Amino acid sequence: MNHFQYRNGALHAEDVLITQIAEAEGTPFYCYSTATLTRHYQVFAEALSGLDAKIFYAVKANSNLAVIKTFADLGAGADVVSEGELRRALAAGVPADGIIFSGVGKSQEELAGAVERGIHQINVESQPELDALSGVAKARNAEMDIAIRVNPDVDAKTHDKISTGRQEDKFGIDIADAVETYRRAADLPGINPVSVAVHIGSQLTDLDPFRMAFTRVAELVRTLRDQGHTITRLDLGGGLGIPYRDEEPPLPEEYAAMVRETVGDLGCQLAFEPGRMLVGNAGVLVSRVLFVKLGNSRRFVVLDAAMNDLIRQTLYDAHHDLLPVAQAPSNAAFEPADVVGPVCETGDTFVRGYPLPPVITGDLLAFASAGAYGAVMASTYNSRPLVPEIMVSGSDYSVIRARQTYEELLALDSFADWQQDDPLRRRSIG
Ligand SMILES: *Cc1c(COP(=O)(O)O)cnc(C)c1O
Repeated sequence: MNHFQYRNGALHAEDVLITQIAEAEGTPFYCYSTATLTRHYQVFAEALSGLDAKIFYAVKANSNLAVIKTFADLGAGADVVSEGELRRALAAGVPADGIIFSGVGKSQEELAGAVERGIHQINVESQPELDALSGVAKARNAEMDIAIRVNPDVDAKTHDKISTGRQEDKFGIDIADAVETYRRAADLPGINPVSVAVHIGSQLTDLDPFRMAFTRVAELVRTLRDQGHTITRLDLGGGLGIPYRDEEPPLPEEYAAMVRETVGDLGCQLAFEPGRMLVGNAGVLVSRVLFVKLGNSRRFVVLDAAMNDLIRQTLYDAHHDLLPVAQAPSNAAFEPADVVGPVCETGDTFVRGYPLPPVITGDLLAFASAGAYGAVMASTYNSRPLVPEIMVSGSDYSVIRARQTYEELLALDSFADWQQDDPLRRRSIG
């Protein structure tokens, strides 16, 4: 359920006409619906009610400050994977003790920043990280609560590039080695191993891999407790899928029931890290048709958005439905179109053979379900400025990231010292 709907033949974000935003702000742009973000959070939170659970929004799915703040205001914590995301979460109003720091490679500086700010938990993914964190915490006389992320060797049955819980994936500690790792962690100063973390992948549309992973984690918790460890928390990650096309991901209540079944009797405080599920269907990418090129056998629709704005189709073979912003009349003939961007790569193809009504230069098309892993993955490839992000609430809209200007884009570079006309700016080591 989302709040991008046609009214009187025109696509709206909540009560705002998409064409109105396009005229005022130009295209392309991302557009997010506050009501949809809020609803998705509340549905998930309600499904978990009765459990000792907290939601830590996975910031990497959409790290705009206004999006993080929307969830923070609803009581969410944040799951971050870098110092930059940590700073975003704090800036958006998430308290330090509502932040979990995940990720397979954290620098000394990142670990120090997390310890000094007193965040809720660091999820450690290797023995060397355990040693590094222990050193950092000890040097600051801190005692850091940690989870060790285990790799349960479960195939999430999702796209290869977003599977994270198989033995050959880079994430976590092999679950078979976990007992030994907790034993060593317990002996290290500055760290307090209170939790077990697991995250097996993203866009899961089946509960079975979750069930298998959580069952293995529950067994591990029992073993660890038998060995004298005090495990009071569990971090069950994110990964619940969303419908992009005809997928039927499990409902939050079904997911919650499976959680109760697998880990409900452990008496642990549960952390959940949903990302895509909260933001994916709460955003669209709106683009304008530049040209329609009729080849011998194909209709190419060339948009002003490209793979640098939304890379999911290229990177993950992902599908995003295309919504004509002006709804096609009921008698319109839908014919296949190859929808492409202007970037000089054949990979800059959003979809082939997609049924579209007749479109002409200037028409607006919206990619559905673009709220997660869209804007955050944008680049300036082909020197295309980053596109704006816009948030809607009821009949209001607000620019929550301005379109990058060409001046800003060029100002990121500078000439080498020896290319400067001013000799004073030439540095010499001779
Ligand atoms: C990416 C990630 C998430 C969020 O995944 P979604 O599929 O967007 O829910 C949660 N936890 C960790 C550790 C992650 O890396």
